[in-house]
Amino acid sequence: MAKDSTKHLTSKLLPKKNLEQFLDALLKQYDVIAPVEQNGFSRYQKITRGTECCLKYRLPRNSIKEFFLPQDETLFFFEPGAASLSDAPSAKREPIIFPVRPCDVRALTILDAVFDDEQFSDSYYVEKRRRMRLIGMACLEPDDTCFCETFDINSTDGTGCDLFLTEVEDSYIIDVLTTKGKTLIKTLADAPQELIQKKKQQVAARRKSQSLKLAEVQNFLKQCFESELWEEMAAKCLSCGACAFLCPTCHCFDITDDVAGKIGRRLRSWDCCMFPKFTLHASGHNPRTKHAQRLRQRIMHKFSYFPENKSLIACVGCGRCVVACPVNLDIREILSTLASSTHPASP
Ligand code: SF4
Ligand code: SF4
Repeated sequence: MAKDSTKHLTSKLLPKKNLEQFLDALLKQYDVIAPVEQNGFSRYQKITRGTECCLKYRLPRNSIKEFFLPQDETLFFFEPGAASLSDAPSAKREPIIFPVRPCDVRALTILDAVFDDEQFSDSYYVEKRRRMRLIGMACLEPDDTCFCETFDINSTDGTGCDLFLTEVEDSYIIDVLTTKGKTLIKTLADAPQELIQKKKQQVAARRKSQSLKLAEVQNFLKQCFESELWEEMAAKCLSCGACAFLCPTCHCFDITDDVAGKIGRRLRSWDCCMFPKFTLHASGHNPRTKHAQRLRQRIMHKFSYFPENKSLIACVGCGRCVVACPVNLDIREILSTLASSTHPASP
């Protein structure tokens, strides 16, 4: 992805009491996507006023992937029987997401590897990625279900963002990381050195956890391919797909044509490897009829097949699947159960 290169240009100060005003100023020129409170959690959606933005919950339930790979996306319109095609209209105002957490920024690099690699470039995805501005925010105290640092994601690092906010006392220090970001903070004052020092101390003191050794995971996953544990672990799975739909890195989709009268449209819609018919062939054969086969595919894809193909683990430890699974299947427990089965003495 050709992006404005990320380097630290300067640091600005935004008192927390001025956050709504800051968002209202952005709304004059941009579409702003921010977390909005909904029945005890928050969801990323387009806001119309700064007061709608809710930072009470660390991670919104949905991920930012839907703003790059929408759940249903019209690729083009067509007239049935005719040879003409027309493009779906594109949005006029440039969008901003505020705030994006470092795990979700890493997830975008995983989507980039699928939709914008050296061999294939998906113009629908690339265009949205090019237009988007990302205002990131540090996580100094991750939630209990967060495990991003297992994947060496630094939750206080703004790489990949245009601006990056760190909470210090009753203000945010805003690191300006790209020239695109610089255009968003023209009226803010420079951050005082004293607060910049405090920010550095906070960042240095952040909690760190052990990182996952990919080679070890790939090794025990290979040994576990035929394990009976998959049946046991998947027995309670409902095949609802919540884990994949909320996951910032899951990216499987289906293509359908939808015709109403004289207008047809080609749609790209999310699909999910946990659905029973995901692998149903036109012949009627289905190679993954069992829950266990589908759960195995999901885990193997994230931690074995994707790293083999793209040199990236397709999980960023956001914990959304852990929070949302209606039967409490926890991806961390799945991995540790499989690891222990191959090394019974390990913790
Ligand atoms: S698999 Fe779960 S923890 Fe990993 S990125 Fe997806 S939703 Fe987050
Ligand atoms: S959210 Fe839980 S129950 Fe639903 S498909 Fe995923 S693992 Fe199965």
